[in-house]
Amino acid sequence: AFLTFEGIDGSGKSTQSRRLAEVLRQDGHDVVLTREPGGSPGAEEIRSLLLHGAPDRWSAETELLMFTAARRDHVERTIQPALDAGKVVICDRFVDSTRAYQGITRGDLRAKVDTLHALMIGLEPDLTFLIDMNPGVAHARATKRVGAEARFENFGIELHATLRAGFLNLAHRSRRFRVIDGNKSEDEVSGNIVGIARKFLKE
Ligand code: C5P
Repeated sequence: AFLTFEGIDGSGKSTQSRRLAEVLRQDGHDVVLTREPGGSPGAEEIRSLLLHGAPDRWSAETELLMFTAARRDHVERTIQPALDAGKVVICDRFVDSTRAYQGITRGDLRAKVDTLHALMIGLEPDLTFLIDMNPGVAHARATKRVGAEARFENFGIELHATLRAGFLNLAHRSRRFRVIDGNKSEDEVSGNIVGIARKFLKE
């Protein structure tokens, strides 16, 4: 099964994906926990090209191609082999992040994102947790992180409000999404996610 976490910067995806992986391992599942951008040696190299340097180092279209190239390598080398081996793959961000970030923040590239995904990747998650939260609270968390890699150094609350709406719009159009209230405590959020994931994996 292929499970993904999505949401704006600072919404708790990394913490929650780690916690879910721990619980599912205790339940006896063989779990691969991975992330994007990155998740394979080649894709991690592309990640550093994307995250270091001026924000306008790459045009919007070049950036989309780089995210797609990184994802292709990640799927080929890490995700698909694990799925083929019957493992549970948990990924911190996947194509929905590209649909939101590359799709709507630097002009409207949504059609190009979907076309490239269909052409070069094809894989969609089985279940996606969208950790939805107030961009102001997420901002306070994201800027507190020490040494975090962030592309939006002066994290714009407005930009993240746009991204939040973009993610919610994706969630409303696809049945694989579960929208989780990320404003609650870490334990409550984790409890909600674990409950849904366990039920899903039993089906
Ligand atoms: O999720 P993570 O913090 O590892 O992402 C690193 C940076 O890349 C974040 O600032 C995030 O906003 C950005 N990003 C992006 N487009 C994506 C995925 C992440 O701009 N598709």
